[in-house]
Amino acid sequence: METYAYGFPRLGKQREFKKTVENFWDKKISEQELFSRIKEIELQIIDTYKKYVDYYPSFEMTLYDNMLDTALMLGIYEFKDIYNYFSLCRGKNALEMTKWFNTNYHYLVPEIDKNFTSTKFQSKWNKLESTQDGIAYIIGGFTFLKLSKGYKKEDFKELLIKLVEPYKKNLSQFKKIHIDEPAFVLDLSDEEIKIIKQFYNQIAETGIDIYLFTYYDSVDFLEHLYELPVKAIGLDFIYGKENFDKIKKIGFPDDKTLIAGIVDGRNVWRSNINQKVEVLKELSKYAKKIMASNASPLYHLPVTIKSETELPKELINMLSFAEERLFELQLIKKMYNGEIAETDWYKETEFGKDKKVQERIQNLKEENFIRKVPYSERKKIHSEKLNLPLFPTTTIGSYPQTPEIRNRRKQFKAGEITKEEYRQFIKSEIKKLIELQEDIGLDVLTHGEFERTDMVEFFAQRLNGIATTKQGWVLSYGTRGYRPPIIYGDISRPGPMTTEEILYAQSLTDRPVKGMLTGPVTIIAWSYVRTDVNLKDVAYQIALCLQDEIKDYHKAGIKIVQIDEPAFREKAPLKKRAWHEYFDWAVKAFRLASNVNPEIQIHTHMCYSEFGEIIEYIVNLDFDVISIEASRSKADIVEDFKKVNFDRQIGLGVWDIHSPLVPSIEEMEKVVKKALAILPEENFWINPDCGLKTRKWDEVIPSLKNLVRLAQKLREEFKMGRQL
Ligand code: GLN
Ligand code: ZN
Repeated sequence: METYAYGFPRLGKQREFKKTVENFWDKKISEQELFSRIKEIELQIIDTYKKYVDYYPSFEMTLYDNMLDTALMLGIYEFKDIYNYFSLCRGKNALEMTKWFNTNYHYLVPEIDKNFTSTKFQSKWNKLESTQDGIAYIIGGFTFLKLSKGYKKEDFKELLIKLVEPYKKNLSQFKKIHIDEPAFVLDLSDEEIKIIKQFYNQIAETGIDIYLFTYYDSVDFLEHLYELPVKAIGLDFIYGKENFDKIKKIGFPDDKTLIAGIVDGRNVWRSNINQKVEVLKELSKYAKKIMASNASPLYHLPVTIKSETELPKELINMLSFAEERLFELQLIKKMYNGEIAETDWYKETEFGKDKKVQERIQNLKEENFIRKVPYSERKKIHSEKLNLPLFPTTTIGSYPQTPEIRNRRKQFKAGEITKEEYRQFIKSEIKKLIELQEDIGLDVLTHGEFERTDMVEFFAQRLNGIATTKQGWVLSYGTRGYRPPIIYGDISRPGPMTTEEILYAQSLTDRPVKGMLTGPVTIIAWSYVRTDVNLKDVAYQIALCLQDEIKDYHKAGIKIVQIDEPAFREKAPLKKRAWHEYFDWAVKAFRLASNVNPEIQIHTHMCYSEFGEIIEYIVNLDFDVISIEASRSKADIVEDFKKVNFDRQIGLGVWDIHSPLVPSIEEMEKVVKKALAILPEENFWINPDCGLKTRKWDEVIPSLKNLVRLAQKLREEFKMGRQL
């Protein structure tokens, strides 16, 4: 048996990729240096592959994103020069960016219209110019088109067939090609499966050997997939458990190689080598030719655990990052082929386990997930306690993280200023912000989140059972990295996490200050999560910590709490049939966290507006107020709420904070008026559509002033009894 690996992170151990590209942007290195350094990184990756595995693709490297590069190879955009390339990635002409499947990687969304002809086609772009041997990497036509935009659904087939020619021209330079088709794991129609067959039958006319890879879940149409004229098929046996059952039923074709994805490309726990070998042996009963591989691209993992020196030894011994996954494949091969009989790579451990926390979870009863006082009554309590005007105004939490704030944090981390000095600095920022918000006339204030770098990492650092890394960077998009925390054990709260700043802010004003928390689903979605217990239990453990935090708020007189859940929708499984189970615990985790004294008004925030498909689950969250994106979608979303007789309050995100433009009163008013035509005025709050941390003060101040003026204007109109 042999091994195949793919998708190794391009970031580099020392984030060389990021530094190189950003240095070029900052004009610190020339174009020539850019290319030669990137080539070096690419060669290092190839050396790493070679050290451990038999096969791997070439040309996986990109300067920004592989979806964009595929678009260039197909001639959707023209590669004029490197400046023009980067202008498609960033700046005012950049392509839209969106999440790659249900991962935390974001890709550039190509725009392709019906009349597309591949006249600009060129194979000159970085990956396909070389004539080097090997298996050339490309994103497959189906996935490429499915994830692009700009065309009508009914034109999909016609367009995909148009892509055949440019694909063939690109592929014909090679003998072997690695094609990624993760979109094959989505819920596909019979018609789409037919189109896939047509496309691949035509591509195969080149006579090239195709290694086709699917991942992130199982493929529902395996019997049809087997008919494609390809040499090898990659299947995910980690997140696509159903693949295994299906193969046991229908077998695997003798003329193809099964590339069995058995080491996890998305999570960091060491593989149980013995068990993996067993799985392969079982699979080999059905598939004559078999290779061991990673179950999804490795770029969802940091480069290597060797860079982590400060984590507890016990934890390091539980972890595998990208390079260690390659090592595991090598071990698996050796054991499978009888070269070694055993290994101590993987061991069961009790590290991080906490009986008390487990008991607390086991003792949860249905009533723990149900708020005793219904919304109709809570609403009365809140209006008495809070005494807010019509159209209350607020913000989503964070305010600009200026260079000064980042500098102070750096100084603190480097030991140049003391903890006390840093605390005092944060406090002075909070104080200035409270005064500013009062001046502007906002009704519900926030403390600004100046002390937080990242809304998940911040909580991860304050909870038991979660570790944060120093070098565990993965790319989120382009050159932007983040360090996902690692949930390795039972989660508990050693003490209050956020009260110092929130209470300080509240002590400075008579207006309500919102307590600000990140919800269980979002903490889970943006972290690596242990797999020895159900996600549900992890979520409930986090929820209980948040509940305790809110109880502390309440004792200290805080009246409003916001639990942010921006990942609530994105964490949903790719296949609809798995939704019910997911949303069941996701909803319950929120309800558990917010099951506190009815006097506290519970807000939630989600940064998007596509609620149509999940509105029933949203309603079940039993919050009092939800703030959502409304400006770009022009409040269309309110229709979805209307359909379910939504009786809660909606914070209309009327200012698109992703743009540097200051919104005018008129344009925000249009959004509100549209919403008012659907639901009554007492349902609405007015706010920006997300946190302000990436904006500048000279954008924030005039925008918030306009927002407050709009609310005042609307209140006047309603006082005058003018109906809209
Ligand atoms: N409270 C967070 C902030 O304002 C919310 C961020 C988010 O939704 N992504 O920054
Ligand atoms: Zn948001």
